[in-house]
Amino acid sequence: MERIDVVIVGGGLAGLSCAYGLADSGLTVLVLERGDFSGSKNVTGGRIYLEPVRRLLPDLWDEAPLERHVVRERLTLLGRTNSTSIDHYSDRRDQRPYPSYTILRARFDRWLSEKVAERGGFVIPQKRVDDLLMDGKRVVGVTAGDEEIPARVVVAADGVLSFLAERAGLRRDFEPEDLAVGYKEIIHLGDRKIEDRFNLEPGQGAAQLFVGAITGGMMGGGFIYTNKETISLGMVLGLAPLTRLQNGIEAYRLLDAFKERPEIRRLVEGGETVEYSAHLIPEGGIRRLAGLVRDGMLVVGDAAGFGLNMLVTVRGMEYAMISGVLAAETIKRAAQSNDFSASTLSHYEYLLKRSVIIRDMETFRRSAEILKNPRLFSLYPQSVCDLLEKVMEIDEKPKERLSSTVFKELRRNILTLRGIKDLWSLRGI
Ligand SMILES: Cc1cc2nc3c(=O)[nH]c(=O)nc-3n(C[C@H](O)[C@H](O)[C@H](O)COP(=O)(O)OP(=O)(O)OC[C@H]3O[C@@H](n4cnc5c(N)ncnc54)[C@H](O)[C@@H]3O)c2cc1C
Repeated sequence: MERIDVVIVGGGLAGLSCAYGLADSGLTVLVLERGDFSGSKNVTGGRIYLEPVRRLLPDLWDEAPLERHVVRERLTLLGRTNSTSIDHYSDRRDQRPYPSYTILRARFDRWLSEKVAERGGFVIPQKRVDDLLMDGKRVVGVTAGDEEIPARVVVAADGVLSFLAERAGLRRDFEPEDLAVGYKEIIHLGDRKIEDRFNLEPGQGAAQLFVGAITGGMMGGGFIYTNKETISLGMVLGLAPLTRLQNGIEAYRLLDAFKERPEIRRLVEGGETVEYSAHLIPEGGIRRLAGLVRDGMLVVGDAAGFGLNMLVTVRGMEYAMISGVLAAETIKRAAQSNDFSASTLSHYEYLLKRSVIIRDMETFRRSAEILKNPRLFSLYPQSVCDLLEKVMEIDEKPKERLSSTVFKELRRNILTLRGIKDLWSLRGI
């Protein structure tokens, strides 16, 4: 086979953004995707922030299949039999250009792969890459079954368990602490029901996050994002606490129990589950990042470990897109000097260090460690709910002053030495 300029392994957001950035550069660009089509194997909760990517991909958004722009955010702390929600609406988020949207990957990634093809890139579905082609220490292509596909540069965009990054020595061995697992259902409700139940105008969307009793003290939480006709409902759980579970709870049972909570039941009532998926998420943060380039190869997106759990948001999609575009810029530059050595490709690392990706990962470098604390997912959500229950309660007894009710409750679980230490640790998030 003739040598291709750029072979990109994985047609998710990282791989396709890289291909889109390269496709009009005169280089031959091949994206190899093992799924039936781009998006068929990709899972996300569903919320993308466009501000970090708008400038890098300015001409992409007018016709993109985005679902709803998010105007309402709701954070719910769940106790065993009670809950407390903060509901935040913002006019700013209801004005163009809308900063954040919900998306469905099966739709969005497929559309993006069509855009790559329109620009002259080739996206080949049902093509699983099995190995790297090496010439000494240099990556010179990939193999897929019996086929050898030589390339001047290979981009590993094959997601969280990147086999290619591992083969190239660009990924550290995973510890369960470095990964979370996400379970998700897409439930069809229809646009009217969604707008009624989530208090939205047509086109507007909501993002809801749930922390507390539903995970049984394990790191993680639940989410609901509203799409045009469906909702994405799921849970993210730390892999380490999940594997330590002694009582044999299966994660999908937690999802069923989440849907049965009174706070959720009425939101999903009458809905039909049209899709179910599960996927791993990289949460190791910057301390788990290994190298990003070697002679003839770069790593982008989840394959590089670009994911962040910021407690109230899981971010990975815009990092995947940004890293793909920065890899494309680097490759174009390297092509000008016809030099794809690690030292030339290290321009990618230079660009990343100045990008929002590494800056965010630096800022939140301690969050994975802090989130290991089970009290954040059990004791404190429960305490806040109990406190508010007491404040709101009227029974036959004379009512105490609110200040003393609040103080007693706070002193019980939060204003303890341990509670203050835990609160103090949150400054690292
Ligand atoms: C439940 C859940 C909720 C999430 N919520 C959010 C959220 O709300 N917001 C957000 O920003 N991020 C979220 N994320 C993270 C986000 O989805 C990922 O960071 C993002 O999908 C990474 O994109 P990617 O292109 O790097 O990898 P992927 O989307 O995983 O793409 C990798 C691609 O490579 C292909 N592939 C793999 N191996 C091979 C091979 N050998 N040969 C050929 N092709 C191969 C796969 O089929 C796949 O298409 C969530 C993740 C999960 C699982």
